[in-house]
Amino acid sequence: MSLSQPISRALRTTKAHLSRLQELGIQTVQDLLLFFPRTYDDKSQYTCIAELKTDEVNNVRGIISNIFHKRTKNGKYLTKALFSDETGSIEVVWFNQPYLKRVLVSGKEIVLSGKAKFGFGKLSLQSPSFEETKKEKEQTHTGRIIPVYHQTEGITSKWLREKLEPILKEWGSKLEDILPEEIRKENDLMDYHEAVKEVHFPTSEEKLEEAKKRLSFDELFLLQLKALQKKWNWQNVSVHDQKPMQEHQDLRNFLQNLPFELTNAQVRTLNEILSDIKQNYPMSRLVQGDVGSGKTVVAGAVMINAIKHGYQTALMAPTEILARQHYQTLFKLFSPFGINIQFIAGSTIQSQKEQIANDLKTGTVDAVVGTHALIQENIGFKNLGLAVIDEQHRFGVKQRDILKSNGSPHLLSLSATPIPRTLAMTLYGDQDLSIIDELPRGRQQIITRIVPEKKRLDAYHWVEEQVKMGRQAFVICPLIDESDVLEVKSAIQEFEYLQEHIFPRLKLGLLHGKMKAKEKDEIMELFKQNKTNILVSTSVIEVGIDVPNATIMMIEGADRFGLSQLHQFRGRVGRGEHQSYCFLFTNKKSENGKKRLHAMVEHSSGFKLAEIDLELRGHGEIYGVRQSGIPDLKMASLSDALTLNLAREAAKKLIAEDPQLSNYPKLQEKIKKMEEVFVND
Ligand code: ADP
Ligand code: MG
Repeated sequence: MSLSQPISRALRTTKAHLSRLQELGIQTVQDLLLFFPRTYDDKSQYTCIAELKTDEVNNVRGIISNIFHKRTKNGKYLTKALFSDETGSIEVVWFNQPYLKRVLVSGKEIVLSGKAKFGFGKLSLQSPSFEETKKEKEQTHTGRIIPVYHQTEGITSKWLREKLEPILKEWGSKLEDILPEEIRKENDLMDYHEAVKEVHFPTSEEKLEEAKKRLSFDELFLLQLKALQKKWNWQNVSVHDQKPMQEHQDLRNFLQNLPFELTNAQVRTLNEILSDIKQNYPMSRLVQGDVGSGKTVVAGAVMINAIKHGYQTALMAPTEILARQHYQTLFKLFSPFGINIQFIAGSTIQSQKEQIANDLKTGTVDAVVGTHALIQENIGFKNLGLAVIDEQHRFGVKQRDILKSNGSPHLLSLSATPIPRTLAMTLYGDQDLSIIDELPRGRQQIITRIVPEKKRLDAYHWVEEQVKMGRQAFVICPLIDESDVLEVKSAIQEFEYLQEHIFPRLKLGLLHGKMKAKEKDEIMELFKQNKTNILVSTSVIEVGIDVPNATIMMIEGADRFGLSQLHQFRGRVGRGEHQSYCFLFTNKKSENGKKRLHAMVEHSSGFKLAEIDLELRGHGEIYGVRQSGIPDLKMASLSDALTLNLAREAAKKLIAEDPQLSNYPKLQEKIKKMEEVFVND
């Protein structure tokens, strides 16, 4: 009998339960064994009744008696009983659990686990979970550290624990450990079978920690292994017929021509890239840097260098506005160097597209900037030497692979959503990482304030004054439970409200995700030309729009956004000569929310904010991570830098020794089956 047999063969249960299990992704015995708890309740301590703590969960061992069931006036079902141990008695109350009538037996010793509440002058235990007592330490649901699982209707944690226990006993040891033994030993990791057992039924806090570490390590190790192998293949297997590129004199000229000096971080990044392209394998590098940190100039410098070596270059951006912006910047930068640079996007007229496609094939065009239009079938290059992808997380793997398939060019990705290094290594492990963590000198600090409700009208008033002085403002509407439709609706309402009641004398614009690309572009263009004063928008605004005259960013429901995203919004202002401001509106008072908004007031570095976000909310919420398609991690947390580093080092070592994992066929099979880390759209 194998672990991959349907769970129905190992488990006697109803059809309904089976289909619920399926909803949880559990189809085989192995699925069930590897369905890890979401969290734990520590019920290893018993409290005696005389020492019950109010409003806390207590575990109590005692005798149940005086059981009494009734229906209340409004049809609810109520169960009351008396619960006693040697130190005293307490009333227990359950609501709407009629089945208790069948299971509670007066005079029996049981263990209860639940909150004690004070009401009507007395203490009672409210709707506790319960279990009959077994010998100490053998309780399944109480009296020890209790796993809590993701539940679905009909499949409670209690049910799962009951079913898991015997299955684990019978099948657990058959699970296959694919981690090489020497790696396990070197990293001082718990045995796999023990870890699976401990994670479901921990025998102590320490063992549980060890077990979690082991299982997290496995997950992170596989991710790293996959990424590093991909990188190895990219650098060693792909057909790359380019000459190594040294630094060209025109690169120096280009840098000297700039009206400014590069920052240290830009210089460091540029040098990292230059040493990549001197190799005889293709570069795969990600440059992360806040908006305005000067990534485009660095990319431009590398593009010139490639062009002067006789290669073509391409820059792809996720939206037409962004692509056009890049085109304009590069066009200016390149103009003294006799470079033929073209722009191509969805809106480009057909005849022109064909002309550009033709010129790319014959090699008359040196550089092309554009959107997805760049990778349509009819576009091919004569000798693409460098591809730059802006905001890579907005593209799918496929789209990136198409660019790469044009003769394995050097690949440079840019991202303005800073994420902590450890996290980036896991998500983008197939790329080398450069970080521009420094803004050009003299960049203004954006004054950020949390605006309390009673100051809202003052803020609006002040905004109107600023607009009269010629400035412009953004209003970002709150996220609504990930629902586009509601979000759009609320943006429309906000727009109408502000236009009619708050700023009747000003011109407002509205931007949301349900609009057509062309419509969006038009609205942005009106705003750019200062034909509208205030732009009300859903979160679609976030990506690199440059409107130097916009100096005020107002964010509604600010607590609903992650720090990285708030930071992205804030980056829309502060791009011109005028002092800029960011106003955060919120009516929620959660501790965590407050901390995050205060972090916005205190910090201006995207990296710092991303780290704080990671600490406060975990990796799933990090903006830019969600978009990249977070790998399916059951146990590991990407904020666990320690395990992450161990796993990465181990994976590095193994790939260096055996890049195709020919001595580890099981590992190879496993990572081959793993989903691409970069699943997208
Ligand atoms: P990013 O793409 O990282 O958002 P850009 O490359 O568009 O940033 O640069 C933002 C602005 O800063 C541009 O106007 C650019 O010319 C300017 N800039 C870039 N590097 C520097 C620097 N070292 N010193 C001063 N200004 C710079
Ligand atoms: Mg940019």
